[in-house]
This record gives sequence, C-alpha cells and structure tokens, in this order.
Amino acid sequence: FLIYLDNAATTPMSSAAISAMTQVMQETYGNPSSIHGHGRQAGKLLREARQELANILGTKPQRIFFTSGGTESNNTAIIGYCLRHQNRGKHIITTAIEHHAVLEPIQYLVENFGFEVTILKPENHEITAEQVKKALRQDTILVSTMFANNETGTLLPIAEIGEVLKNHPAVYHVDAVQAIGKLEIHPEELGIDFLSASAHKFHGPRGIGFLYAASTDLHGGDQEQKKRAGTENLPAIIGMVAALKNDIEHLKTNFEKVQQLKDTFLNEIAEIDYYLNQGKDQLPYVLNIGFPGQRNDLLLLRLDLEGISISTGSACTAGVVQVSHVLQALYGENSPRLHESVRVSISPQNTEQEMITLAKILKNIIGG
Ligand code: PLP
Repeated sequence: FLIYLDNAATTPMSSAAISAMTQVMQETYGNPSSIHGHGRQAGKLLREARQELANILGTKPQRIFFTSGGTESNNTAIIGYCLRHQNRGKHIITTAIEHHAVLEPIQYLVENFGFEVTILKPENHEITAEQVKKALRQDTILVSTMFANNETGTLLPIAEIGEVLKNHPAVYHVDAVQAIGKLEIHPEELGIDFLSASAHKFHGPRGIGFLYAASTDLHGGDQEQKKRAGTENLPAIIGMVAALKNDIEHLKTNFEKVQQLKDTFLNEIAEIDYYLNQGKDQLPYVLNIGFPGQRNDLLLLRLDLEGISISTGSACTAGVVQVSHVLQALYGENSPRLHESVRVSISPQNTEQEMITLAKILKNIIGG
C-alpha cells in the first residue's frame, strides 16, 4: 500500500479536472488570440473560465490574471506593485511565518531598491490585526500576509487586517495558496487588493494559478490585459477552474470529512505522547504534530519505508530537512519542536483506513 498525506505540498488531481483538461486538449487546441474559428472557440472557453473563476471569488473577470502558480502570483503582486509605487513610500509589512515565495521577493526589494520591511512575529501562535496597525507608517505601501499557514494550517485574521487597512493607503496582498478551495473567499468583502492562488494545491494541475488584482497597477506583457505576455495555457486554465468549482461545490462536506479524518487519527494515537503545533483558528487540512524525543527526519524515513508520505513542512534541500523558519518564529530557535515535528496534510481523497494505518505504524515506530 501507499498512503499520501502530503497534500499541503501538492494534491492529486481530481477526476473533474482531469476530464475537463483531456477534453480541451483533444478538442480545443486553437490559440485564444487567433481570429479564426479554432482561435475563437478557444477564446470563448478562456472567457468562460475567467468568468467562472470571477463568480467563485465574487468579483469581475477583469480582475483575474492567470499565472504559473503561487510563486509567480506572489512575485507579480509584490514586486510589480512596489516598483510601480515606490515614489509613494518604501515600507512593507509582512510576517515571519510567510512562505519563501513572499519573503524572497520582499528581500529582493530590500536589497536592490532600498525598501524597508517590518516582519511581524507571532505572539502566542497568533498574528493580530493590532500588530499590523501598530507597524503601519505613512510610507507603508504594501502589507502581505498569508491566509492560512502551509506548515501549521493556522488561519490569519484576514478580515480584521483588511478592516485596519481601510483607513490607510497601503494595499493588502494575501497569499491564499493554502486556503483557496477549502474556504469560501471573496477578496472584495475582505478588503484584499491582491490575492494569490495555485491550482496544484486544490486538486488542479501544476504550473497554473491566478492572481486576483483589484487594481491593474502592475507591469507586464501583452496578454492578460498587458500584464503577462505569452499564449494562455488553456488546458491548465480549464483544469484549474474545473478543480476549484468541484472543491467549492463540496466545500462543506470536504471540510467535515477532513476534520473527521484528523479526529480519527488523533483518537487512534491517544495513548502515545505527542503535542500539536497549532493556533486557535485552524484549518483541519494541516496537522503539525511533534513526538517528544523522536527525531522528525528519522520518523519521515521510517514512514517512507512503510509507503507513507508525510513531511516536516519546511524546505528540503538535497534530501536534507531544513529547520522550519515557521516553527522557529513560533517557538524560538532552541525549541526541541523544530527537530521533533512533522506535518500530516490531509485531503478529502484520504480515507479513515489510511488514518488508522498511519496511527498504527506510528505507534509501532514510537513504541506506544
Ligand atoms: N505560498 C504558499 C503558502 C505555499 O504553500 C506555496 C507552495 O508550497 C506557494 C506559495 C508556492 O506555490 P507554487 O508551488 O504554485 O509556486
């Protein structure tokens, strides 16, 4: 048997996405920019896909830009907006628990264009709107926070931060890569100006995502309202929209199922010693858990030998697990949690039996 519980890294594609893509690849191969019949047919599908996505987000299709995924969406929003508006101010606010795809473009602006960044540290596992309010300056032009953390599943207070920013000219960018498809998200109601998403995290294909942008104040090419040049990847776009539509249609049942799977697992390991690395407001999809005295890298290897794929949640370079900057920010550099914690990330495609098997093997390894 093989058990996949690393869904925060990437998800298996849904059959809804695979069949929608297959149909487009077989039937609609024209270039959406061509003016002949094949092109017009592809152009129509592209317009419909953008409209469907706009409906899901409660916005207008002109506000959606297709990208290659979360990394590109984050880079486009952060670098595109800040370079264009640097004459208004050069201060950015973000958090210490962001993904590298947010921290690195900000670092690029700091190192190459003289921007300053305030990096908010979580207090008792939480980032608050109050912290953002206190950090705001007259020259702050961008606030960037994630919707849900990819290592812990903790939710950030997006609506509250959006509310704080209503009275300030800084724009709000939200990396929603781990939340889209799991919660209903309407950026306009939440006071979000830019929102990043990636299809492979919600059962769609790799290499495609989108950026919601309330303003078109970015730089770019010819397609995508002159913001991103290049022939549109129509099969991937159609696959992404089909995947998201399918997730949204089953939002509540998926959420409940994943919650149930998480509870089953925790019940099954009740007799062994563990702790959870989690906040008050949590998505059930990600479970960050530590076992006192157990090295996480060895645990991953032993589970891998049993055919079970989980992760530590932090980056892995050349097979070596790096210490998580997220857990470091949450618990300090010297916390044993950094070397004991693993991430089990669940999808509605997982089963009760898989959770029971994982628990059983873990108990064998740990000797509970
Ligand atoms: N942001 C978050 C929170 C993520 O979890 C990831 C993926 O690991 C990304 C951004 C990057 O997304 P992509 O793989 O589509 O570039």
